[in-house]
Amino acid sequence: MPRETNAAKRERAIEVCERLNRRYGPVECFLDHENPFRLVISVLLSAQTTDAQVSKVTPELFRRWPTPEAMASATPAEISEVIKSLGFYKTKAKHCVECAQMIVADYGGRVPADMKELVKLPGVGRKTANIVLNVGYGIVDGIAVDTHVNRIAHRLRLSPKTHEKEPLKTEQDLLKILPREYWTNVNHQWIMLGREICSARSPKCGECPLADICPSAQ
Ligand code: SF4
Repeated sequence: MPRETNAAKRERAIEVCERLNRRYGPVECFLDHENPFRLVISVLLSAQTTDAQVSKVTPELFRRWPTPEAMASATPAEISEVIKSLGFYKTKAKHCVECAQMIVADYGGRVPADMKELVKLPGVGRKTANIVLNVGYGIVDGIAVDTHVNRIAHRLRLSPKTHEKEPLKTEQDLLKILPREYWTNVNHQWIMLGREICSARSPKCGECPLADICPSAQ
């Protein structure tokens, strides 16, 4: 197969987004995003865990500690008790408290709306920060690359194989190839595709709207 030019790859990437826009339209964030504080905590809890599991613990979590000020005065042990059904709950509980404390101490109780500041919060990496900016503040500064987005980007060969285990590099590849207006919907729409069709174990290529433009289609 001849090497694909960058222009052809860009066109194909845009076509991927257009087709998924038509299929899914704008997708609501699956996690509690009533306000940026709830969102940052919910995304922090979602690492290595399904959104459905997170959604089971957040009502009680935010009932007891609804604001950064309230959560800043909780102990990690108290938070652990509420979120113990989640993987890595002890570390996550510690991050919840430290994150709330930092929001109160350094940002006047308001989650910062800035990538550089967000990634300073304990437990918050670029993926979480992208979601908080995008969903919480309507700011599009990147693409949140989670396990679904990463897998699909590589199956579509929109990022080189050497970046397969490095979501931050995959994100940079997607940002280079896709015009900015497409960045907003990639995370949620590709997650939908990953859950519904392009699963990790058994992708249903026969049902996929991208099959004719996907080099990994079987
Ligand atoms: S064609 Fe198959 S591998 Fe490619 S995106 Fe669709 S389901 Fe995934």
